[in-house]
Amino acid sequence: MFDKILFPTDFSDVAAKALQYVKQLRAAGGREVVILHVIDQSNLELLSSYSTIQDYITIEKEIEKRSSEELGFISNELRQLGFMVTERLEKGIPLRVVLKVADEENPSVIVVGSHGKGNLEEILLGSVSEKVVRKSRHPVLVVKR
Ligand code: ATP
Ligand code: MN
Repeated sequence: MFDKILFPTDFSDVAAKALQYVKQLRAAGGREVVILHVIDQSNLELLSSYSTIQDYITIEKEIEKRSSEELGFISNELRQLGFMVTERLEKGIPLRVVLKVADEENPSVIVVGSHGKGNLEEILLGSVSEKVVRKSRHPVLVVKR
């Protein structure tokens, strides 16, 4: 039932909490985890309009490097528990890319945090988790902050 897990993460505290639930799914028959991070295109566009090309390239590379490091840390933790792990680092609009990757990977379950780095107090769900719950045809486990 939980054979293949898609875990989209923005590396926020809430996503870290969601990772604890991903780990627990090993005992429930989880075998494979696809960890996905989407570098937000709109942040890059903002950056490009405020910096020189050279700075932009440097910062973009730095963002990519840190993102793959973060993915690596999570992979290691999951592999130690016996999961088969795939890392996916993508660029684009997070909620669109998460849905696209869910279509491609066809997971048994998607595990997301209810919120992410935005972390506005009042809102019930962040825009990514809301879209995933509404639009995805896969079961979704939403871990609350
Ligand atoms: P908003 O972005 O709408 O201001 P938020 O940041 O609080 O609100 P979301 O972005 O919806 O909330 O984050 C909810 C969950 O969605 C995160 O815990 C994470 O699991 C996933 N997520 C969010 N952004 C990304 C991303 N860039 N890449 C991968 N997963 C993401
Ligand atoms: Mn967000």
